[in-house]
Amino acid sequence: MKRAKFTSRVKKTLAGRAGHKCSYPECGRGTSGPGVSTSEVAITGDAAHIYSAADRGPRGRGGLSISELTDVKNGIWLCAEHHRLIDLNRGDRFPPETLNGYKDRHERRIAKEQGYLPFREVEEIYISCSSVFADDTVLRLSKVMLIVGSNGTGKTFLFRLLNSLSNEPRSKLGSLFREEENLSYSIRLSNPEHQVRFSGVGNQVTLSLDGAAVPFNPLTVAIFFEEERTRLQPLENFLRSKRSKLDSEPPDDLLLLSEYWEIEPDLVRKLVAKAGTFVEHAFNNPRFEVAMGVSRLLVNDKRWRPDASIHKISGGMLEMLSLDVAIAYAMHMSEHHPTMLLLNTGFLHLDHNHMGRYVDFLLSNEVKFQTLIATCSFNPEYRKIPWEIVHIRRVGGKSIVELEQAGEF
Ligand SMILES: [Zn+2]
Repeated sequence: MKRAKFTSRVKKTLAGRAGHKCSYPECGRGTSGPGVSTSEVAITGDAAHIYSAADRGPRGRGGLSISELTDVKNGIWLCAEHHRLIDLNRGDRFPPETLNGYKDRHERRIAKEQGYLPFREVEEIYISCSSVFADDTVLRLSKVMLIVGSNGTGKTFLFRLLNSLSNEPRSKLGSLFREEENLSYSIRLSNPEHQVRFSGVGNQVTLSLDGAAVPFNPLTVAIFFEEERTRLQPLENFLRSKRSKLDSEPPDDLLLLSEYWEIEPDLVRKLVAKAGTFVEHAFNNPRFEVAMGVSRLLVNDKRWRPDASIHKISGGMLEMLSLDVAIAYAMHMSEHHPTMLLLNTGFLHLDHNHMGRYVDFLLSNEVKFQTLIATCSFNPEYRKIPWEIVHIRRVGGKSIVELEQAGEF
């Protein structure tokens, strides 16, 4: 085959998408500047091939055709120094997956500098084989989605599949596969577009990215999976159980909450301070006050008390606090990573007006992450809320998913 050269249009696209900066981690060197004459531009960067342009070049051709090799997808924008570096020793230190990871990370950072971040990160989950869902089940995800299904239909299973995109230890993923005789599913990411595929028998998990086997998923998504963190225990019950054990001395609220959410105390402090700021609330101004070395969390209960301890406020308010902290955590993560918020709890004790205000906020441009909320009870009032609704039903021993169309049901 002849050398697969990029056209000048492809080079221009790659340079532009890279913000005319080198995509190598921590390099970021500018690659365009003033030329010799006042009307000239000097370009010092290179469009490097991810799979090789030449038959025997670095990383090989990976079985790609000439048109695939010359496509924008096969290029990464680098400064001359890093172009040389990645091609040394036949590119052994820089396999295609690594370079794709560099490219995605860099383009994300550039998008962020521009003040724009794509918010729909996970486009679709496709379950080809599992014990729970019918073969070839497809679920397209939107920015805010409600998943309705009675117990045992597979809502948690679905969340656990999505959770495999996070950079949790592989052992957790292994346990997901161990319980399944034969599990295979893939998740399509939308921006940039990639497909991560998980399949396995027992705890032998194989992972591929865009069809090529990879040792780990380089395109991780930060996931706040509420249920995994709190083990389905509402905050109210958790606090009560801790109080009874700690009768003699007052509990340190900051440490308790850190234990409950498995989040570092410093971050808990920041997240809790955001509670009550997303939508109008029954409480405001949450704050930690330290007395004799012990932190207490106080809020202003709008109806009657100015300094209410979280041990005295209602379970409903604690639910709102939990929801707000989960949202604040996702906001925090989404500043640097693609992020998903998975909620599988009784948050829908909130009436539909209150829930609707949350969903309006979660759909706003301010929010750069996706939210999936699972519930087992459906209230027709939910149709007034602008989320997409999906129903999971059992049909012939397996679950199927159905998107609710307007006017249906
Ligand atoms: Zn560089």
